[in-house]
Amino acid sequence: MSERVGFIGLGAIGTPMAQHVAQAFDAVVWNRTGAKAEAFAKAHGATAVASPGDVVKACDVVITCLPTSREVGEVIAAAGPMWRAGQLLIDGTSGDPAGSRRNAETLASHGVAFVDAPVSGGVSGAERGALTVMLGGADADVARARRYVQPYAGKIEHVGPVGAGHALKAVNNALLALNIVAAGEGLAALVKLGVPAKRAVDVINASSGRSNVTENLIPERVLSRAWLRTFSAALLDKDLGVALAVLEDAGVASELYPAVKRFYEAARGMLDADADHVEVIKRIEAESGTTIE
Ligand code: NDP
Repeated sequence: MSERVGFIGLGAIGTPMAQHVAQAFDAVVWNRTGAKAEAFAKAHGATAVASPGDVVKACDVVITCLPTSREVGEVIAAAGPMWRAGQLLIDGTSGDPAGSRRNAETLASHGVAFVDAPVSGGVSGAERGALTVMLGGADADVARARRYVQPYAGKIEHVGPVGAGHALKAVNNALLALNIVAAGEGLAALVKLGVPAKRAVDVINASSGRSNVTENLIPERVLSRAWLRTFSAALLDKDLGVALAVLEDAGVASELYPAVKRFYEAARGMLDADADHVEVIKRIEAESGTTIE
């Protein structure tokens, strides 16, 4: 029998990550909505348990993938008496550095190590086992964590102490949000000037302004009008808040990040709660009277 590894949080990206973990290890899963954990266990040969404490009781290594560091803290607290010295928590959440340091301190009081391990590459990257994993933690803990994130990783980088992974992930996602807004506004103008949207995107993608947003997200979700839902606008707005705090803590003044954060907040006010992060372009379309298709 292979080693047991816990996985907590079977959401949009947690599920495909956990699938890879379940192929490589004997996975023990918990999810707040228990039916999802039961269905996952049946489909992927894992064991579903009734509480975070049951995961911690069964496994020396536990991976979390929850919305924010706050929910990670709740799960750590819920499992309180079950933690044992020598265990390792690998936090795949896009958390915040200060929250991660607090969670690491709580775990350290039980003799448990913490590594922040946020991911990039989206649901499709998770399905392909090709995520970029940004590890923050002490050298020995990070070295130990590598083999547990390997099943869903294309690239694994140790970027600094606890919290550094979450800081890097927040800046990465702020760049994603900046690109979405900048591409949306520019394309709306081009469409109004009579340039067909697809031709504009094709030319940009053969030029220096291209990005993941213009190469992948806009063709797949906006030009197609498919508006796929894989990563919520609410979660990217949360990442923008983390990025603002990272810049503030570092004493770096920013003009762009606060502007994009305000844009996301206003756009979310026009969209339903489950809207995808790219759907904020609907705000630009509505306000400019254009359709980028
Ligand atoms: P989802 O909203 O799809 O899933 C959230 C998960 O967290 C669900 O399993 C949910 O349980 C659980 N959860 C929510 N609140 C609580 C709580 N209070 N206690 C316990 N469990 C809770 O999010 P994603 O899977 O999309 O994202 C997870 C993390 O990964 C986020 O930090 C996100 O920013 C990050 N991320 C997401 C990417 C994506 O493409 N989706 C890409 C890269 C990073 P339930 O099923 O009961 O709702």
